Amino acid sequence: MRKPRLMTPGPSPVPEDVLLELARPVIHHRSVEARAVVSEVVDGLKYAFQTRNDVLILASSGTGSMEAAVVNTVPAGSKAIVLDAGWFASRWGVLCQTFGVEPVVVPTEWGRPVEPEKVANALAEHPDAVAVFGTLSETSTGTGHPVEAIGRVVAGTSAIFVVDGISGVGAMECRTDEWGVDVLCVGSQKALMMPPGLAFLAVSPKAWGKIDAFDSPSYYFNLKLARKSMKDFTTPFTPAHTLIGALKVALGRIRAEGIEAVWARHRRMGEACRAGIEALGLELFSSRPAEGMTVFRVPGGLKDSEIRAGLSERFGITTIGGQDRLKGQIVRIGHMGYTDELDVVAGLAALEMVLGDLGFEVEPGSAVTAAQRALMGQHATPPGGIGR
Ligand SMILES: *Cc1c(COP(=O)(O)O)cnc(C)c1O
Repeated sequence: MRKPRLMTPGPSPVPEDVLLELARPVIHHRSVEARAVVSEVVDGLKYAFQTRNDVLILASSGTGSMEAAVVNTVPAGSKAIVLDAGWFASRWGVLCQTFGVEPVVVPTEWGRPVEPEKVANALAEHPDAVAVFGTLSETSTGTGHPVEAIGRVVAGTSAIFVVDGISGVGAMECRTDEWGVDVLCVGSQKALMMPPGLAFLAVSPKAWGKIDAFDSPSYYFNLKLARKSMKDFTTPFTPAHTLIGALKVALGRIRAEGIEAVWARHRRMGEACRAGIEALGLELFSSRPAEGMTVFRVPGGLKDSEIRAGLSERFGITTIGGQDRLKGQIVRIGHMGYTDELDVVAGLAALEMVLGDLGFEVEPGSAVTAAQRALMGQHATPPGGIGR
């Protein structure tokens, strides 16, 4: 028997009560009942995102919210600053080019955090930039970026700060309003304990100023239309309300645990996993790790594919390798959403056995011990938390 254990940085495991909610009969999307669910979900999303701004729901994967953010805020022919520090961040540049926007790229070495001073310099050099596009958690490298500090820099200018929070929100502290995030993009299948299929945007008044200033060449992803429909707790086109119903249950879990406890649980899982990886003598890829995943370099003499196949074939654990220029060089382990400390400890135990069988020198229990040490003396998940 192989028990399936999804340990990728999206999709991530979905709790049973959320899955069961998906089995309910389909209702009409313009009914009072459907609107009540959307209204409750919007409140729950505002809590999870720590925002009072407008929250919009799209039937798309996370990238749909990124496309909507670009096409609605920056007119063709204008300039935008792109904080390119990984495979997903580079998507901002591709999206800008797709819609005739000139990307001013601020490059950062993959695995390192964006430096806020570089953002300040870029804004000083390009005062006509309409937006700054950044990332909370760069999933290709497992790096958490200093969104709060970058937000302070952007807030003092006329530009808006657009953040890809797709794998970050729900796994890492994200105080959307306090940190000056004007547009937050989120997807359902990363840390929100949901299947893929929904995307969300939180839009500030400053961002609405940019959106209202021109006619966006968009139809399905037109945010002015979305804002108008959301006043009546619906969407311009048929909402994916079966998923939205399930999201109500997932958000109820986040509210019951408390968003700060959710962030703290991910911090503990991140610390434990990193401690275990380092105890094995493996090298962490990122100098400022994101909390929802751990990324390590494939040690010399081994292949990422054989490590991942061992974890999968023997223990049912799905992990993922590197993308683009990191292909073959790293292994990425997800621990986000419906995941707890013991999942991390079990994953490390499996990794020890797989590496040992591949001929890598491993002291059995070393990673597990280091993870346990990191977890001991830390707060347990409070009552009403994920385990209930
Ligand atoms: C997963 C991910 C995306 C892409 O989301 P899709 O749902 O695949 O469209 C974009 N950015 C980050 C940081 C991600 O983790």
